[in-house]
Order: sequence, then structure tokens, then C-alpha cells
Amino acid sequence: MKPIPERGDELILTCRDCSKPNSMKIKSVKKNAQNEDGSWCYTVKAVCNICGFMNGEYRPIWYNFYKIGVIDF
Ligand SMILES: [Zn+2]
Repeated sequence: MKPIPERGDELILTCRDCSKPNSMKIKSVKKNAQNEDGSWCYTVKAVCNICGFMNGEYRPIWYNFYKIGVIDF
């Protein structure tokens, strides 16, 4: 897990629309707030490979949630 997510990176997530886990490409990254451990919290959007749903559009996906490598989906 990289400390800073980048567009084009892939994350394995369970799609909020079709509920199928798959490796999704990150389409957008937004820096959000600094965590207690000095890492930064980002919000990302990622497109489902199966149904094309944009995950993170309505409910954010947090990347580096308190600790590097933690994703709150
Ligand atoms: Zn999907």
C-alpha cells in the first residue's frame, strides 16, 4: 500500500452498486486532512470494472484513514 494514492493505481474494493469485489482503477484523488501519525488522509474515486459504477461519488472512500494503508470504504 502506497502512502499517497495516484490516479491509475488499482484498489481491490467491493462495489457499492453491484456488490462484487474487483480491482478498480483510481479516477480521482483529493487530499483531505492530516492524521495523528503524520500521514495524510485522502478521498478517492474508483470505477467498478464490472458495472462501471463510480465508487466514492456519493459516499467517500477514505485512503490512509488514521494509518497508512487503511481504507475505509
Ligand atoms: Zn459494480
